[in-house]
Amino acid sequence: MPEIFINGQPVQAGKDQTVLQAALAAGIYIPYFCWHPHLSVAGNCRVCMVEVEDGKGGGWTDIACNMPVTEGMRVLTDSETVRAQRKSVLQFITLNHPVDCGVCDKAGECMLQDQYYEYNGEPRASRDPKVHATKFHPLSERIVLDNERCIFCSRCVRFTREISKSHALAIKLRADESLVRASEDGALDRDPYSDNIVDICPVGALLSKQFLYKSRVWYLKPTPSVCPGCERGCRVNLWHRREEWRLRALDPRQNEAIERVTPLENTEVNGPWICNKARDLTQVFQRARAEQAMTKGQPVGLDAALATAAALISAAKRPVALVSSWGSNEELAAFKQALGGRFTAFVKRDCQPQPGEVVEDDILIRADKNPNTAGARALFGDAPVAFPDGTDLVLVWGEGCNFGELPRGAKIVFLNAWLAPENGHADVFIPVSLQTERSGHYTNFQGVVSAFAACFPKKAAVADAEAVFAALGTKAGVPA
Ligand code: SF4
Ligand code: SF4
Repeated sequence: MPEIFINGQPVQAGKDQTVLQAALAAGIYIPYFCWHPHLSVAGNCRVCMVEVEDGKGGGWTDIACNMPVTEGMRVLTDSETVRAQRKSVLQFITLNHPVDCGVCDKAGECMLQDQYYEYNGEPRASRDPKVHATKFHPLSERIVLDNERCIFCSRCVRFTREISKSHALAIKLRADESLVRASEDGALDRDPYSDNIVDICPVGALLSKQFLYKSRVWYLKPTPSVCPGCERGCRVNLWHRREEWRLRALDPRQNEAIERVTPLENTEVNGPWICNKARDLTQVFQRARAEQAMTKGQPVGLDAALATAAALISAAKRPVALVSSWGSNEELAAFKQALGGRFTAFVKRDCQPQPGEVVEDDILIRADKNPNTAGARALFGDAPVAFPDGTDLVLVWGEGCNFGELPRGAKIVFLNAWLAPENGHADVFIPVSLQTERSGHYTNFQGVVSAFAACFPKKAAVADAEAVFAALGTKAGVPA
């Protein structure tokens, strides 16, 4: 391992590392815009400039992102020369940039904003008027581009070539006429990973239409979670309003809304990327909720619903359960412990691929659109659903069951989180909590177990499935 010296401090670098990588690994920050740890080196923003000492009182400056380490190398990351060069780079980058941080969605997370304050801090170098460009160019149905804010780092273009492989973007024209554009009409719409470019754009040039002007990022906080969109189980951050910024006068429903979804970087499952389906969880979690327990479509209290369900379970001769592949490992274990001895259980696929959705690819997206099929099968096996003759009760947990296909005459106990016509058709309906209201774990198809945490407290009128199973087991007198 080569030893190099950064600002006089000895650093053990990896043999194939660049100076930028070695410095960051040692906790020494060098600013960068175009460099990204998961993309090829472009070396075009020039802001990672460092000074290399030649050992004879002289030296030279060069970009750290493209400079391999060599034994004994001596690098200065914050010398007067370096600061002066970075200031020039920042002046150049902001020559035609609007610096409109006050109205920019990226404010608070913008690398340019941070470096502008650190290294520039002076009036614009040119007396010529700024060159203006398109402010709202629709790059796709999901993403809008502010050309004036683009610093041509090419991260977005490299992402579509190297990661999503859609080749959907390119930079056209030259100099101050340069523009990022779709390589052909609709190209970015066909990329199911397109929204990652909003995250990796180092400035506020690429903006998510879904999130545009919805909130300032400092009003929000991320809760670590797992995308339930398929059996990959990508780790995500669910962003929602901070307690101290709760809305009281405006629409208070926003206090319990997921405002945006971003990747939670990890090495085992999804690295730093997610597909667009995870971004759309903002709408999924906004679906109308079931908040009323019912027996035969008539509203009853939760306790009364539980008592009726327990009586049906006690009386049943051949009860079958369709357990949810959206249930957490904890909920599945609770079902097994409380009711597993009473029911013949099958794992149900709650969700199927939707029309127009990418069913499967060789990047992240998996054909099974449920987050915990593996966890459920580990406890209940993988036999296809088959109702034994004489089935007289079916406990349906979660979506994806066609009541018309259940054995005729069988009683139905239904647990669901969403408002749905089937709720009123069950003999007993029990509304249950959502992933955003409880914590737990899912096991993905590779056997990796990932945790999710609660974003909001559970609604008073709904129950946690874990508690429902424990109560039903006790009330129905099922031996533990
Ligand atoms: S849009 Fe953003 S990511 Fe793409 S080149 Fe411009 S600054 Fe870079
Ligand atoms: S690949 Fe699957 S788990 Fe990952 S973000 Fe997309 S839908 Fe969610």
